[in-house]
Amino acid sequence: MITLHVTSTHPRVLCPRCHVRTLRVHSQYTRTLADLPWGPYAVRVQLRVRKFFCDHPTCPRQIFTERLPTVAAPWARRTIRLAQLLLAYGLALGGEAGARPGPG
Ligand SMILES: [Zn+2]
Repeated sequence: MITLHVTSTHPRVLCPRCHVRTLRVHSQYTRTLADLPWGPYAVRVQLRVRKFFCDHPTCPRQIFTERLPTVAAPWARRTIRLAQLLLAYGLALGGEAGARPGPG
């Protein structure tokens, strides 16, 4: 098992509700994500993400977690690229499993 420690430092963070940019960090926490294997080794990513305050006066969302849409879906346990690979494997295996055996 290989563990990668990654911290998001994206400077432009938008509130997902009102889409206004914010800079004020509320807190941080770590998400653990399974990622693509590196050779024969399983890889997990310890991803440090930030929570922000939304300071827009009319926005009902006061605190939100930054979105990383190219890395992982919110609350996902694996990276998008691993999910895509597993989906491709599933489709390939499903195609084989669904094939009817020929006569004789
Ligand atoms: Zn907002």
